[in-house]
Amino acid sequence: MRKKVILTLVSFCLIFATSFSPAKAQMNQDSEVIRVVVTILPLADFVENVGGNKVKVTVMVPPGANPHTYEPTPAQLRELTRAKIYVKVGSGMDFELIWMNKFIEINRNMLICDSSRGIQLIRKDPHIWLSPLNAKIQVENIYEALVKVDPVNRKYYSCNKENYIRKLNELDTEIRKELSKIKKREFMVFHPAWGYFAREYNLKQIAVEKEGKEPAARDLVKLIKQARKIGIKTIFVSPQFSTKGAKVIAREIGGKLVFIDPLARDYIENMHRVLSELIQALK
Ligand SMILES: [Zn+2]
Repeated sequence: MRKKVILTLVSFCLIFATSFSPAKAQMNQDSEVIRVVVTILPLADFVENVGGNKVKVTVMVPPGANPHTYEPTPAQLRELTRAKIYVKVGSGMDFELIWMNKFIEINRNMLICDSSRGIQLIRKDPHIWLSPLNAKIQVENIYEALVKVDPVNRKYYSCNKENYIRKLNELDTEIRKELSKIKKREFMVFHPAWGYFAREYNLKQIAVEKEGKEPAARDLVKLIKQARKIGIKTIFVSPQFSTKGAKVIAREIGGKLVFIDPLARDYIENMHRVLSELIQALK
């Protein structure tokens, strides 16, 4: 029954999508494109998946930058004056805590979409998007914001959203299935970005970084002991953060560093990569 509903929905979406001629789409893009500003790259992916050719997305924290410390450029602040929507992560990320009020001051007409609405937050952990189930809630919140600003295109946004939610469901099912085959549940990571992911899939994240800082010598000794005891051979690091402390541990345990990115733009593709690295490490 459910399958049938989904199939009907998909075919409806296909008909809907093909009924737009390229010329029409082009015209739309030039005249009434909706400018959306987001804080981090994965949010840009969510907005583009729902908004399709009706949105133009600008990202505040550029690739490789650290959202705990990044400061916007004057050009980015100017871009805000043209934005219809600002999508914030909404989970207490440093960048937003410091800058959000200033952004609202710059453009009071901009609709602020709090993508975290409805998500159960973990204290002092802003990395909500790294659980695909949270991502689904964020996508729903983005959809609602787009419909509020552009109600005429509700159907278009709704089709796109349903399509993307279906892909996120598939991703969640696959992660659950693959991780259920593995006994070991503990993994070590430099920057603790994977708390929501760990909570969702019954894993345990051991962080090298302490309160946003490199670990002290005494912490390193403890971590090395812990890694040896559990049999950890992989320390996960991310491109936006230092690898110093992680390197020391890896050397001591005869293990290696593996990069996983909490901020990659292509969300689903990136989560597949993360899953396969995790499985390698937990095996
Ligand atoms: Zn972080």
